[in-house]
Amino acid sequence: MPRARTSPTALPADLTPAAEPAPEAAAADGRLASTESIAQDLATAIVEKRLPPGTWLREEALGRVYTVSRTKIRAALVMLSKDKLIEIIPDKGAFVSRPSVQEAREVFSVRRVLEAEVVRLFIASATPADYQMLEQHIRFERAALRESTTTGRVREKLLGDFHVVLAEAAGNQTLAQLVRDLVARSSLIAMLYDSSNDPHCSSEEHADFLALCKGGNVQAAVASMTEHLQRIEANLALDTGRPDRQLDLVKALLA
Ligand SMILES: [Zn+2]
Repeated sequence: MPRARTSPTALPADLTPAAEPAPEAAAADGRLASTESIAQDLATAIVEKRLPPGTWLREEALGRVYTVSRTKIRAALVMLSKDKLIEIIPDKGAFVSRPSVQEAREVFSVRRVLEAEVVRLFIASATPADYQMLEQHIRFERAALRESTTTGRVREKLLGDFHVVLAEAAGNQTLAQLVRDLVARSSLIAMLYDSSNDPHCSSEEHADFLALCKGGNVQAAVASMTEHLQRIEANLALDTGRPDRQLDLVKALLA
């Protein structure tokens, strides 16, 4: 997911609850944040795990972060609720989604079906440039894993994105959009049901899978992708939930 930070770099350092909105801060880069860009920024923060499941997304605090009206914040939250990234509870507010065990299993089950089709479409239509792009992506994954400074959330985002890049290269935009949404929800699920086993994507498995695609072995490539997704699901601790983690919304978004 491309980063689309809006205005945090232009914000004043002091954003205490008592601080007044500072309209001139948002105007520093010449424009106010749009509903779309706020939704994108929040989605990125959720996927990067700066906003963990269960976080209360207070309209007032978000209004201060983006220096926009609560109406605009509410529109952005509605947009995210359609993607299931957040849940709006009447009379309580908006919260980062907390997928249930059943929902987690459903997401991975649907991913296995959809991504098997992605693999078939990809092999049928992939050009040498597509293979180069995905091989480049795997090199990025490996380089990021070697970097001792790479944080967990950057690493996981990079690895998760392999599935999105593959789906986009398969040429069916509707399918790619569905995969993108499911990968984002998987990231939430991985955070909530993380276990001591490694529940994340393996760069080696991505490389082995791509070699099967390149060899034109559709059946083996589909099986490889299916097993890869099964392994990720199997390594999640779907029998135990994690307690809430409280955090400062403003700090999380400005991180
Ligand atoms: Zn993967």
